[in-house]
Amino acid sequence: MSSLYGVSIENLKGIGKKRAELFNRLGVYSVGDLLEFYPRRYENWSVITPIENAENNRTVCIKATVLTSPSTVRTKGGRIITKFTVCDDTSALEIVYFNNKYIDTMLAYGQTYLFYGKINRDFGLQMIAPIFSKISDSNGMRPIYKQTQGLQNRIIENAVKEAFSMLPDTIGDPLPESLRKEFSLCDYKFALENIHFPKNEKDLETARKRLVCQELLILMLGMSKLKSRSKNETSVKMQKDYKDRFYSLLPYELTNAQKKAIKACISDMTENSYSMNRLIQGDVGSGKTAVAAAVCYNAVKNGWQAAFMAPTEILAEQHFESLKELFKNEEINIDILTGSQTPSQKKKIRERIASGETNLIIGTHALITDKTEFKNLGVAVTDEQHRFGVAQRAKLLSKGNNPHLLVMSATPIPRTLGLIIYGDLDISIIDELPPGRQKVDTFLINSSIRRRACNFIKEQIKKGNQAYIVCPLVTEGETDLASAEEYAAELMLKEFSDIPVGVLHGKMKAAQKEQVMIKFEKGELSVLVSTTVIEVGVNVPNATVMMIENAEMFGLSQLHQLRGRVGRGKDKSYCILVSDNKNPDTLNRLKTLCSTNNGFEIADADLLQRGPGDFFGERQHGLPQLTIADFADKASLELSKEMCNYIYKNNSQFSDKEKNTLNACVKRLFNKGGNNIMN
Ligand code: ADP
Ligand code: MG
Repeated sequence: MSSLYGVSIENLKGIGKKRAELFNRLGVYSVGDLLEFYPRRYENWSVITPIENAENNRTVCIKATVLTSPSTVRTKGGRIITKFTVCDDTSALEIVYFNNKYIDTMLAYGQTYLFYGKINRDFGLQMIAPIFSKISDSNGMRPIYKQTQGLQNRIIENAVKEAFSMLPDTIGDPLPESLRKEFSLCDYKFALENIHFPKNEKDLETARKRLVCQELLILMLGMSKLKSRSKNETSVKMQKDYKDRFYSLLPYELTNAQKKAIKACISDMTENSYSMNRLIQGDVGSGKTAVAAAVCYNAVKNGWQAAFMAPTEILAEQHFESLKELFKNEEINIDILTGSQTPSQKKKIRERIASGETNLIIGTHALITDKTEFKNLGVAVTDEQHRFGVAQRAKLLSKGNNPHLLVMSATPIPRTLGLIIYGDLDISIIDELPPGRQKVDTFLINSSIRRRACNFIKEQIKKGNQAYIVCPLVTEGETDLASAEEYAAELMLKEFSDIPVGVLHGKMKAAQKEQVMIKFEKGELSVLVSTTVIEVGVNVPNATVMMIENAEMFGLSQLHQLRGRVGRGKDKSYCILVSDNKNPDTLNRLKTLCSTNNGFEIADADLLQRGPGDFFGERQHGLPQLTIADFADKASLELSKEMCNYIYKNNSQFSDKEKNTLNACVKRLFNKGGNNIMN
């Protein structure tokens, strides 16, 4: 089987150069790829519906005889419409095709066929452009593949059949036999045959289960391989522990959870001979920045450089300002490097980093571009890790001589999923909020009472507090600039004419953003109208209201993040979700936020409702793309985890061949699409 990855699909009957290129577009290059190009869904041709019983607009399979010769008319626009009448024991039905010149030669008078399509009862009984097959053909479940222009399902289906004909009788199985036995999984050949051409639902399920578990298992094995790889010897040694001195710099007492996380990090960096590779997971407002600061401080005091990365410039600026303040008497050289600095500014700072003059560098992802060389990078910290994928982590590690790595995330994810996505990391959880925090009261309103909400915001402002308003998302064609600025202008003209309002959006230059942010932090602006650029990390404890327009357009976890911008100080805080959506499911989804402030509960609900693709944003996790498994499928995740453990426990029982086969699968998955994560 594995050799078929080396056989180009052009070797299949019916696939020439042109078609091969179309297959390439679907990510299929070899015969092996094609066998792993699983159908998206199936049409069940084994259940025949009597015409009379077919519901309007439902897709069904009917078995009917052609009663008339075709009648063809050409419309004024030049369209060809071909009609047949067919019937079964229960009723007659009109079959209609558009612009299909050959259809009358394909359907013969008096013959019986299976027709698969949607029944329409609006204009008599019709079925528009059904696919059909002779009853002698296999009439089970038909696979429906992802298609591309010029490559219809039938061609793909035939190519897959050809591919199967090239398979030898027995093929190698990626999963060791003992493992399959232990977990009652079918063999690979059965799985492949039945995922493409299942004889019935039960065999399809058997096949699917095996392939899903295989994919998740391979993914988990890969992640733990990354983990053990990063457990390489490091030359970054830190002798002294400076945490007590760090504690004395802080204006507050750390929570126990924060202290525990800091201890774990420092012992990673001082006691082990391999590098730290740790994730700090803590809900919004749990005080992760202090942990990051402690880690950076410790590295710098031990004579190493530290890098602290944030996903947005605003956040980088903010960390820069607060760390400068915190370390002002510590003789630490702190610099900031972001994408929007001028080339000459960047060059200067890069020189300072390369010479070692800079001890602590804060920045956006620009920090990990190849241009940045460190003199002696000891630790890299990345904030809001869900924006920072596996590949980027790997890249960062290549920056120094196996530096220590700390990643921080405020996106609580369900445990099993976390084991995969962060499978290459050790995890510390901050499960405690700083004292005095109160629950953020959250309300869902529609825009008819926005005026009242604005009055409420004004009252808060009178008390000396501040507010964020997240304005509607950009609709197509509009720029983010127009929407945020127009929205703010309207507010200033109407509700907030006597209140200082600032605007923040993604298209602004860093310096402009910084100015607005500084004004808001200082309290010179009472209201900050913003797009979601404030979603992550921003910290202004005096802000007590967060109003979010078009709340239905956001995911729950994202809303939770946004809400986390308030409730950071001593004062009671509020979140107002505005939505005119009428869909009860949507409204119920939003109500989850009104009933809980617990990030984990929210993440669970979010994952269930939207699926992981949206949950993380487009491939934000940076994991290999899954072809059949689904991160929301908890049962399979659990089972695969058990399989993974079984493999580690019984490792000595497997033959070298079995181990090599598994390893080859891991490499293939992680290096797909030019992502050379695994070497
Ligand atoms: P997040 O985990 O969301 O990144 P931050 O690190 O931004 O949270 O911290 C949120 C706020 O809580 C900041 O104003 C910070 O100064 C404050 N803070 C952090 N830890 C403590 C603590 N132990 N006691 C009091 N305030 C704290
Ligand atoms: Mg933060």
